Amino acid sequence: MKYYSLNHNAPKVSFQEAVIQGLASDKGLYFPERIVPLTASFFDTIENLSNEEIAFEAIKQFVGDEIPENILKEIIAETLCFDFPMIKIEKDIYSLELFHGPTMAFKDVGARFMSRCISYFNIKKKESKNTVLVATSGDTGGAVANGFLGVKGIEVIILYPSGKVSDIQERQLTTLGQNIKALEVDGVFDDCQDMVKKAFLDPDLKYKNLTSANSINIARWLPQMFYFFFAYKTLKKQNKPLIFSCPSGNFGNICAGIIAKKMGLPVAHFVASTNVNDTVPRFLENGIYDPKPSKATISNAMDVGNPSNFIRIQEMYQNDLDQFKKDFSSFTFSDEETIKAMKIIYDIDGYISEPHGAIGYLGLKKELKNQQNAIGIFLETAHPIKFLDIVEPALHVKLPIPTQIKGVLGIEKMSTKIKTYEELKAFLVN
Ligand SMILES: *Cc1c(COP(=O)(O)O)cnc(C)c1O
Repeated sequence: MKYYSLNHNAPKVSFQEAVIQGLASDKGLYFPERIVPLTASFFDTIENLSNEEIAFEAIKQFVGDEIPENILKEIIAETLCFDFPMIKIEKDIYSLELFHGPTMAFKDVGARFMSRCISYFNIKKKESKNTVLVATSGDTGGAVANGFLGVKGIEVIILYPSGKVSDIQERQLTTLGQNIKALEVDGVFDDCQDMVKKAFLDPDLKYKNLTSANSINIARWLPQMFYFFFAYKTLKKQNKPLIFSCPSGNFGNICAGIIAKKMGLPVAHFVASTNVNDTVPRFLENGIYDPKPSKATISNAMDVGNPSNFIRIQEMYQNDLDQFKKDFSSFTFSDEETIKAMKIIYDIDGYISEPHGAIGYLGLKKELKNQQNAIGIFLETAHPIKFLDIVEPALHVKLPIPTQIKGVLGIEKMSTKIKTYEELKAFLVN
């Protein structure tokens, strides 16, 4: 499979090159040249397949022959080494829990898949060291750090906005040591992201073989399509239209869902639920894409003012806004509404959500008003423990600490403070 740049001013590349480069030389995001629908028999018999088998069928066209089948299967098995439970919340509303991985964030899937692909390419090429450079608004850093921990030939540098990630999130990305380094940036997430983008284009840093592990990287972004297939497998027998609501920040997750739909997955509608960083909801209302600096919220993993993956979604709809709106809605919610939703969800069935999932729930409820007889699924993208400062006081509960988290508590944080791009560059060079 070849990948082209969405800025259309760079050569087409292989899967391997797209994964290693992250971003094309013209600053464009890579996009697959073709999306081939899966066969009807795949969907007819999906309930007989394991998650690993489903994932293999879904991803293989995007990898092509660049990773041998047996190795790709191994990579998938290691990627999907945990469960994806579907929990019924109320009639026709389900929470798809994506947080049972090692860092308790849905990003574990993409990070594990990507790190193993890069490691395979590294071993194959016996190439010099790669540096993975990644900006995080919260959960990416931990998932990427964990996914790459101890992977040979790769150094990982994580930039995060100082004081704007939760205590547990910060520990997850500052306590691992080994090949993982954390930079604490005096600024907001967009500052971190801008610095990372600048570093990729800096000719002085070319020798560092910089690779991005944000959802702009196809190896992190594409495997996220798996969840939507898994959900379909579970709910198929109910024979009702499915609506997915994704709590959205950089829009990578929902964009992977739309690819799944292009591959034939029967999805009736997608809802991108956002916090007050509402660039996409505003776009759907007035047709003007007008990004704004990000605002801090209690759903901080979605504090993104200019969602990087939105351009991939537009590519799939060829900028046809009317067609797009048939498949896609986007709604924005405040912190107050988010807390209220967490309380409502808790009152229904004792289900403990966290701010991101609660925003997903709110978007779903809003969309379901227009769609009778559908089943709604909201993605629960993080374990509530990761946002315990918000969840515990809002619901008056005390959350037990899962084993995955116990490991990082009590370990001293190691990070380097920076403010400017020059400081980042100096850090990379030394
Ligand atoms: C990253 C993240 C999101 C947003 O996902 P995108 O793919 O960037 O839209 C939502 N919730 C949590 C908990 C996250 O970590």
